[in-house]
Amino acid sequence: MSPLQQVTVLGATGSIGLSTLDVIGRHPERYQIFALSGFSRLTELEALCLLYRPRFAVVPEAAAAHQLQVDLRAAGLATEVLHGPAGLCQVAAHPEVDTVMAAIVGAAGLPPTLAAVEAGKKVLLANKEALVMSGALFMQAVKRSGAVLLPIDSEHNAIFQCLPGDYARGLPQVGVRRILLTASGGPFREMPLAQLQDVTPEQACAHPNWSMGRKISVDSASMMNKGLELIEACWLFDAKPAQIEVVVHPQSVIHSLVDYVDGSVLAQLGNPDMRTPISHALAWPERIDSGVAPLDLFAVARLDFQAPDEQRFPCLRLARQAAEAGGTAPAMLNAANEVAVAAFLERRIRFPEIASIIDSVLNAEAVRAVENLDTVLAADKRARSLAQQCLGGSSRGEV
Ligand code: NAD
Ligand code: MG
Repeated sequence: MSPLQQVTVLGATGSIGLSTLDVIGRHPERYQIFALSGFSRLTELEALCLLYRPRFAVVPEAAAAHQLQVDLRAAGLATEVLHGPAGLCQVAAHPEVDTVMAAIVGAAGLPPTLAAVEAGKKVLLANKEALVMSGALFMQAVKRSGAVLLPIDSEHNAIFQCLPGDYARGLPQVGVRRILLTASGGPFREMPLAQLQDVTPEQACAHPNWSMGRKISVDSASMMNKGLELIEACWLFDAKPAQIEVVVHPQSVIHSLVDYVDGSVLAQLGNPDMRTPISHALAWPERIDSGVAPLDLFAVARLDFQAPDEQRFPCLRLARQAAEAGGTAPAMLNAANEVAVAAFLERRIRFPEIASIIDSVLNAEAVRAVENLDTVLAADKRARSLAQQCLGGSSRGEV
């Protein structure tokens, strides 16, 4: 293996992608960018290509690929521009790649993330939706290929750090009683319930502690993010939903905790900056500088904890139900949520309708056992179409 780790960043123009490039830029002696992908911000992708000079860049369509190829050639770069899902899978599974950062948002990230897993890469998983959708298949592929799967979600990265190295033997076998999954509670934690009807996308995206992409910001506001994370934790750590307790912790300084049978509770703390879990996973099992300022406990001063309010946040309850139902339920939950969140961001529905649309979709369709990826993709497609029908029935105007 080359002394330089070859890294593909899927979703390089996003919040996690840019944080990853920031960390990588601090360690040119360790990492080299092999491929970068972008979807809508192609001018930004071009600027990143000029800076990191990757072997490949991936864009959504052939016309955009041609344009970027012409521009990069004119700038004297040898970068080859690919396009579409096949291009993403190619740079995720390429034999010369060591590490893949899976930071595409939503179900679109599933095929390339799975391709990286099947090729036995070190996979840094930010794209939680991919694991939520395909859970058992994804984890079976990890086992079969010998891929090293490291969580980037700050909570799961914290849990990974607090678990013993041999946790794959089973949580009870290593003395774990519970996983305590922390949640900030988002921007609407204390808003009077009646006002949730009128919140705007801008308010939903203004997270008190974290700066993130728009979809995950809305998920944080509805607490669907915590619901997806509950499902993600079940798969990553082979836990039952009942072994995971959600704890609202508004300061986002403790990123999650593990409760052991002897009464010890281990936590991972740090400033809310995704460069910490990204650096941890990139360098694991070593440690590298991330550029994150040291935690100032005197400035933090206090840490608060509350039980989550499922009346305020029905998405959390729906996700727990989907986790318990298993089969195609999480894929349907995820797909309905993606459609509803996009509609909310386009001001086509009100914020509380996100949960009611997901509820309707889950009630409209029986849960099936997951046999293969086609079962998952069919459930995803069906849920999207049911959610679109709910939108059609929603006659609200601008909010
Ligand atoms: P973002 O919206 O900032 O970036 C998303 C990236 O995905 C962009 O590069 C975009 O070009 C690409 N993309 C979007 N749609 C695509 C499609 N259809 N095909 C191919 N590429 C597409 O999102 P983000 O905040 O960086 O989040 C990325 C993932 O990481 C999400 O799954 C999110 O849940 C997870 N995550 C994010 C954070 C955070 O702090 N931002 C924390 C934990 C987990
Ligand atoms: Mg998280």
